Amino acid sequence: MGKIIGFTTTIPFEILFAGGYIPCDLNNIFITDSEPMHFIEKAEMDGFHKSMCNWIKGIYGVLMEKDIDSVIAVMEGDCSNTQALAEILQFKGIHVIPFSYPYDRDRDVIRREIDKLMGIFGVDYEKLKTTESEIEDVREILRKIDRMTWDDNLVTGYENHLWLVRSSDMLGDYRMYHRMAKEFIDEARKRRPIDGVRIGFIGVPPIVTGLYEFIEDIGGHVVYNETQRQFSMPFKESDIVERYRTYTYPYGIFSRLHDIKTEIKKRDIKGIIHYVQAFCYRVMEDVILRQTLDCPILTIEGELPRPLDARLRLRLEAFIEMLRGQEG
Ligand code: SF4
Repeated sequence: MGKIIGFTTTIPFEILFAGGYIPCDLNNIFITDSEPMHFIEKAEMDGFHKSMCNWIKGIYGVLMEKDIDSVIAVMEGDCSNTQALAEILQFKGIHVIPFSYPYDRDRDVIRREIDKLMGIFGVDYEKLKTTESEIEDVREILRKIDRMTWDDNLVTGYENHLWLVRSSDMLGDYRMYHRMAKEFIDEARKRRPIDGVRIGFIGVPPIVTGLYEFIEDIGGHVVYNETQRQFSMPFKESDIVERYRTYTYPYGIFSRLHDIKTEIKKRDIKGIIHYVQAFCYRVMEDVILRQTLDCPILTIEGELPRPLDARLRLRLEAFIEMLRGQEG
């Protein structure tokens, strides 16, 4: 079995697989734990302030508890807190490998970052090509799952979220993930189509639990998960540099806007839920989104990995009701 390499957000994991390592998205370990709060409590006991993003605390807590001693930290293109987190991790004895997405999407800089990772993990382009083509087969299946969400209406928004958000590391075994996804599709094909108000979900993946299930219960159908879909690399790009250049998430709001607008139209989305995380700098992007998207927007904020509270439920109900009224 290969060595586990953790990472703080999506990175070119093809390189890790090609080198015989096991990629591990630390966010997924945190949020899929049966008791994610204990990671946050560990971070706070070690001095992380209450008024800090809980995703960051969750990542830290996971690393303090699990047997992962090497982490790729995305210093540019993800989170304004990562540099400080990386320093704390280094201080705690974890091997930190920095990786950056340049804000201006400069091809040469991305290539240099990718080459650097390839050097560290002992991967050449020939080895990488074979792995990339196998991973592309998995991504093709994930595109089908996404299409079955918005076009065939056979896959729920929550299932779509799960399949796409976990594609950032494919559970550390892309062949197994491929098999699981194929079995899921075979089962989903037998269902009856979902009929609900068509919702787009944008922003970072939510920390609160039960959000998708509640939206479905009150008659919404989430047909677009912006960031999760980006994690799955929904575009067919055979060149690794171009693939991670086309990926929108690390390059700021303007790179994301084009994707969001295109998908609103294509998926016939009636309303957008913009999820923001408490104490995250990305909250400010709401200003631009509200002035540029031609679609009703509800902005909701989550803080802890706990079930939806009554206030959020009421706001979601009122939003879906309003959209239903507009449909006539
Ligand atoms: S939600 Fe915002 S502050 Fe928290 S880890 Fe993500 S980018 Fe950073």
